Formats: sequence, C-alpha cells, structure tokens
Amino acid sequence: MNKTKYVFVTGGVTSSLGKGIIAASLAKLLQRRGYSVTIQKLDPYINIDPGTLNPYEHGECFVTEDGAETDLDLGHYERYLNIATSQANNVTTGRIYQSVIEKERRGEFLGKTVQVIPHITDEIKHRIQLLGNTNNYDIVITEIGGTVGDIESLPYIEAVRQLQWELGDHNAIVIHLTLVPYLAAAGELKTKPTQHSVKMLMQSGITPNVLVCRTEHELNEGIKRKLALFCNVKQEAIIQSIDAETIYDVPLLMAEEGLDKVVLSQLNLSSATKPDLSQWNAFLKKHKNPKHTVEIGLIGKYVELHDAYKSISEAFIHAGAACETKVLIKWIHSEGISEKNAKEQLKGLHGILVAPGFGDRGIEGKINAIKYAREQKIPFLGICLGMQMAVIEFARNVLHLKDANSTEMNAKTKFPVISLMESQKKVTKKGGTMRLGAWNCELQAASIAKDIYTQKNISERHRHRYEFNNEFLSEIQSAGMIATGKNPETGLVEIIEIPKHPWFMGVQFHPEYKSTVLNPHPLFEGFVKATLEHSLT
Ligand code: GLN
Repeated sequence: MNKTKYVFVTGGVTSSLGKGIIAASLAKLLQRRGYSVTIQKLDPYINIDPGTLNPYEHGECFVTEDGAETDLDLGHYERYLNIATSQANNVTTGRIYQSVIEKERRGEFLGKTVQVIPHITDEIKHRIQLLGNTNNYDIVITEIGGTVGDIESLPYIEAVRQLQWELGDHNAIVIHLTLVPYLAAAGELKTKPTQHSVKMLMQSGITPNVLVCRTEHELNEGIKRKLALFCNVKQEAIIQSIDAETIYDVPLLMAEEGLDKVVLSQLNLSSATKPDLSQWNAFLKKHKNPKHTVEIGLIGKYVELHDAYKSISEAFIHAGAACETKVLIKWIHSEGISEKNAKEQLKGLHGILVAPGFGDRGIEGKINAIKYAREQKIPFLGICLGMQMAVIEFARNVLHLKDANSTEMNAKTKFPVISLMESQKKVTKKGGTMRLGAWNCELQAASIAKDIYTQKNISERHRHRYEFNNEFLSEIQSAGMIATGKNPETGLVEIIEIPKHPWFMGVQFHPEYKSTVLNPHPLFEGFVKATLEHSLT
C-alpha cells in the first residue's frame, strides 16, 4: 500500500494572497509528474458549510458532484486538476464541532471531559487523513483557511503540528505563503512582516519547510538569504511568487521557481519525471492569443463582487480559449435594468447571460434583459434562476399570463410557472436541503443541447428548490418554448430552448461547475460560438 504524504498550506501577513491558487498550481505540477494528488480546504468558520452564506461574504458557493456546498477554492482545484472533489475536500470548524458534539451525545467519549485538545484536534486530524486513506492518494494538499495568528485557526495549526510529529520527517510538510511588500518611499522590499508571521507559526511549534513569498518585484538573492536565515528555512525553499498576468500562469511560474521540486525533495519523493505541461501550455497560448473578441453581459445581483460568479467567469475563459476568442464580460446589475433602459444598457452585446440567484431582488431587471435578448435575437444563456426567469418572461410576454411568476417570489401568483419542487414542500431547514449535486438529464433529439453535447444522456450539477411547473408545459411548448432536456425519472424540466431564436437556452443546472482548463464546458463553448457568430452578423 502506498503511504499518503501531506502538504499543508498556511497563510501569513494578510488574507487574499491566493493560497488556493498556489495549492492548485502545486497540485497540478505534482499531478503532471505522475503523482495522484488531491486538495482539501479547511475553513475556520463556524457555519457547517458555505451554503447558507450570502455571496457577498465569501463569493460563490461551489457545488461538488456528491452535492456538497463548498468554498469557491474547490472550484479552482477542479479546474486545475480536472478531477472531481467531494464533501471530504472541504471541512469547516462548524462541521468538526458538529461531529464531536454528536459523538458526545452518543456517549462515545465514555465520561471524559470533551476539549479542544485532544478532541477537536483529533477530529481535524481524522478529517485530513480520511481523505488520503480512503482514496490512496500519493499526496494530499491541505489548505488552512485564514491567516496564522487568527484565534479561530489555532486548533488547525495545532492539529498540523501534531500530525507532523506523528507522521515523522518527510511525510508531512508545511508551506507558508506570505507577502513581501514593496515600500515605494524606501524603494525596498521588506522581509519583516514575513519574519513576524513565521515567528508566530514557530510559537505554535511549526517551522515551515517552504516559504512562498507573494511579491510585486523580483526577490534578489540577498532578500532570499535574509528570509532563509531569519525564518529558518533552506534558501532553495524560498519561492518567489510574483504577480502573474493570469491565475493560469501560476503553475508555470511555480515550475520555474522549482516549488514542486523542493516539495518532492522535502517529502523524499522522486522528481525524476518532469511535469508534462503541454496541454496546459496549449490552453494558455490560445487564451493569450485570441483571434476574435466578443462581449457578453453577465446580469446578476452580486456583480460588485466578481467572486460571486467565479465559476461562470472561469468557464468563459476555458470556452473562450477553445474558440480562440477573448470573452469580455460586462458586469451588469440586474436591479438597474428597466424596460425603458434595457436597450441602452444591453445594446452592442454579443450575448447575454442571466446568472443564478435567490430571492426577488433584481428579478424584474433580469426579466427585462431576457425580453430584450429574446426579441432582439441575441444569444442567451440563463442559468438556474436565469432559466426560471426566462420561463416567466415567456409566460408574461408571449402567453400574456399577466404577472406569471415563481412561487419563490410571489406565493400567491395566479400563474405559478415556476413552483416549489414536491420534495421541498416539507423542508424547513435551510442548510444542505436543496436539490444538490449531480442529476441525470435526457436530451431531446432535435435540439441545440443535443447538438452541443453530442450524446443523449448527460449529468449536471444542481442547486435549487424550485422547478418548471409542468402544468404549464404544453401551453408554453405550443407557444414556442420547448423543454429539450428532462430528468428521466421525474420529468423535471432541465433545459428550455426557443427554436425560432438563433440561440436561446435556459438550464436548471449549473454547467459552470464542471468546466475545467482541459475540458471546457460544451454549453459555454456553444454559447461563445453563438456570440461569435452574432458578432459577425
Ligand atoms: N432560487 C432558485 C431556486 O431555488 C434558483 C436557484 C439558483 O439559481 N441556484 O430554485
């Protein structure tokens, strides 16, 4: 049996240094050297998962195949590694405490006082090792959320210290990601914040094995030597992470800096096989040398925070590269689109995407945008709530069902063309209770969807409570909006299209979650192609 090795990634000095991207880049390099690798994120907040969080707090909630609502970093892991993650890849303090408290209620601690040490730390260690042991990965990279020194991170840091001691040298290492700021007034890069941050880690009993230093300017040998000496890290293990043009450059920059080599040497693993990055490079080349440009309006209610739509914007990058097209996203706030100003706001766009969402804020704006896209024959993609709004718009403006709505927005509407799923009617708790994760969908033969997927049966990820109300299906279909994808078991409408429109599609699922660098999502590719054609007319 192979023995899993562990790499922990901690952050210092400040948040938002990009631990997720560094972890994903390292994982990519190790994977391309032939190692089996996965990445896990430990989040120190008390929510059980980010499913109940407002996107303004932490950005998008990413959904895995097995229906876990997770941190958006898992999206990066999947997009880089091209492998699916699962519930076990994202653990929060809330979940750790929940398990420990449930155990206590079952009497499993046999009368002992239950404490942060050892019970919480044991549960953390268990969750880390479970991932490696059950899947036999060569390497598990565990990213610890937050910044070293945060009170809430302490149990995680202690768990890492214990694991390092238990697993022994070369089996568990720590990469500490820090910032080396440039002081323009002094004209100098400053190492002191990093020194302090490492000191803080050392006070918790951990000496980092590798320092990855975010910087706006090259670190010269002198700076590296200083960092090595004062942080007790080998000089070759001081890795510069200079600001990159795109996040997809980071694996290459890390390869140049030798991050993967240093990590393998610290883990006593062979670095004889060089990472084969030919496919990655081919993607980057296309991404950076587009032949065409299109502009797509992304209409949502959280557009001030682009992270709220991370998977969608990344899916456009993957699809854009595949079509050798630069996709410019115009972020448009749904609340600002009225029937009157729709033309002014949306004219010139080559495509319109209406984003997922919850609640009634901004939905009339979404409906106005969809009307414009439908009537002006602009390629349209509606995702989840975006699809539901397309059905409402059609019912209101084509079928003249006045005030047709979703029961989410108006429980008493006369025309509930979107209504709560039967399975949701008894649900009272908010967390983890939506229709989540992968579900099957069967495509109708003559449809854009079938042409795009080139297969009849597909599976996509979901996150919703409401659905197309099949009582209105025949009326809506007779008027020209067709359900071209359905769940084969329940008949739930998964895809709607308007065949008379050049490219109009609404999907109840979230294609964006499955788009990766190596496998751009066919729907996004199809949409970008349609916008490109539209731009040429
Ligand atoms: N609020 C809608 C529902 O629950 C759509 C959800 C979404 O867009 N993810 O069905």
